[in-house]
Amino acid sequence: MEKLAYLGGEKIKKVEAPSDIYKWPIITDEDKAAIMDVVERNAYSKTDITEAFEKEFAEWLGAKHCIAACNGTMALFAAMFGVGLGAGDEIICTTKTYWASCLSSQLLGASVVFANIDPETLSIDPKDLERCLSPRTKAIMVVHYMAYPADMDPIMEFAKKHNLKVIEDVSHAQGGFYKGRRLGTIGDVGAMSLMSGKSFAAGELGALVTDNVEIYERALAFTHYERTT
Ligand SMILES: *Cc1c(COP(=O)(O)O)cnc(C)c1O
Repeated sequence: MEKLAYLGGEKIKKVEAPSDIYKWPIITDEDKAAIMDVVERNAYSKTDITEAFEKEFAEWLGAKHCIAACNGTMALFAAMFGVGLGAGDEIICTTKTYWASCLSSQLLGASVVFANIDPETLSIDPKDLERCLSPRTKAIMVVHYMAYPADMDPIMEFAKKHNLKVIEDVSHAQGGFYKGRRLGTIGDVGAMSLMSGKSFAAGELGALVTDNVEIYERALAFTHYERTT
């Protein structure tokens, strides 16, 4: 190399537009064939391909049930409804997240109480939960921010002590682990976005996972009304 490109030398990486390098998601021929299969069979809504995805996704995370939703916002909304969040309730949520982690709770008549983040994990600070607690607290929304797992042990301990439900927003950390357990399967229910900007990108898609059949049934009725069987 004669001269660094920075100093006017020839560039090794020649790309027309910088966006070419960052093209995401990567779509393969296999993906295209799978899409065309659905289109040609005219099989769009809650069909075998969705069910196959739900089954495989649940198995991958080690959860009993999975629901595919139209996006992450809906999956999180369904998780809130699933745990029974309703009028007058409060949900404790981290301050550092995308609005969909908590805003839909207001459509259920609940309100959001914001907890500080832990500077190490950038996720909810378990030490701040006590301050956020009130007789109305029903649930905690944990977000594994930027793929780094929140400290689940003290969060679960706190939730158990105060009889609260724990929802995990796994939109940044699909497939990640906390102490050997998949994120999204430690709380009562996990919900996540799989939209095109996430590391696990599937176009527009959300997924909810849970081992709790009551949460599953409530969330299913909420997400896929009239298509629940
Ligand atoms: C992207 C994202 C969502 C929302 O997902 P959509 O699929 O865009 O509805 C929710 N929570 C977090 C943390 C996200 O990053």
